[in-house]
Amino acid sequence: MARRKKIYEGKAKILYEGPEPGTLVQYFKDDATAFNAEKRAVIEGKGVLNNRLSEFFMTGLTQLGIPNHFIRRLNMREQLIRQVEIIPLEVIVRNVSAGSMAKRLGMEEGVQLPRPIIEFSLKDDKLGDPLVPEEYITAFGWASQQDLDDIVQLAIRVNDFMSGVMYGVGIKLVDFKIEVGRIWDGDYQRLVVADEISPDSCRLWDIETGAKFDKDVFRRDLGSLTDAYTEVARRLGVMPSNATHMPKPTLIN
Ligand code: UDP
Repeated sequence: MARRKKIYEGKAKILYEGPEPGTLVQYFKDDATAFNAEKRAVIEGKGVLNNRLSEFFMTGLTQLGIPNHFIRRLNMREQLIRQVEIIPLEVIVRNVSAGSMAKRLGMEEGVQLPRPIIEFSLKDDKLGDPLVPEEYITAFGWASQQDLDDIVQLAIRVNDFMSGVMYGVGIKLVDFKIEVGRIWDGDYQRLVVADEISPDSCRLWDIETGAKFDKDVFRRDLGSLTDAYTEVARRLGVMPSNATHMPKPTLIN
C-alpha cells in the first residue's frame, strides 16, 4: 500500500491524510493512557472495538441529523472522516456525579444530578486539561459565544441520543466527553461532533449491578478493559463477542 502522510499522532489514535481533500483516515491504536498519560498500557483489541463503537454512535447521530465528522469505516482499525478544525476544548456532559466533579465538590460518586451539566476543559496536556469558565473561552477567543451556544445544543442532543441508546441495553450513561470541530464552507462555518465516541471517553455503568464498562476499568485496575468494551459492543449488537480474540494467522508450509 502507498505510504500515507501522517498528520497527527495522539494517545489513542493516528490521523493520516485521506484519499480526497477535506478527508482524513482515523486509525485506532490499542494504547490506553490515563491520568494525563502517567499510566499507560497496550490493550489488545481496544482499537478494533473503539473503531466499531465510534462508527455505531456516529452513524446513529447522522440518522438523527446531528452533524459529525464520520464518513465510513474502512477496515478493522480505520475510518474515513471529514477534516475539521478542532476547537481546543473538551466538552464534558454529566448526568451522574463521578470522577473529577465528585472529587472537586466532595460528592459521592453515583448521585443523579438535577439536570445534565456541561463543562469545558482546555485541551492542553501540559496543563492537565484544566476546567475553564465560558468567560475564558470567549475572552481568549478559543470559541465565540455563538459557538458555545451551538456546542451546548450539540452536546445536549448527543447526551439524549447516547443516554437512550445505552439505557436500552441496561447501561447508565454517567458522563462523557466530546470534541467539536469546525468545517468551513466559504466564509461560513458549521460545528460538528469530531474525534470519537467510545468507552474511552464515556462512563458507562450497568444499571443492575453498577459494574463499570469504561476506561475506569483501566484507570482503577478493575479487571479486563477488553472484556468491558466487548460487553458494551455485544449488548449493542455491534460485533460478535470474540471478534477481537481471533487467532493470529499461522503460516502453512
Ligand atoms: N474524559 C475524556 N478525556 C479527558 C478527560 C475526561 O474522555 O481527557 C471523559 C472521561 O472518560 C469521563 C468524562 O470525560 O467520561 C468526565 O471525566 P472527568 O472530568 O470526571 O475526569 P477524570 O475523572 O476522567 O479525570
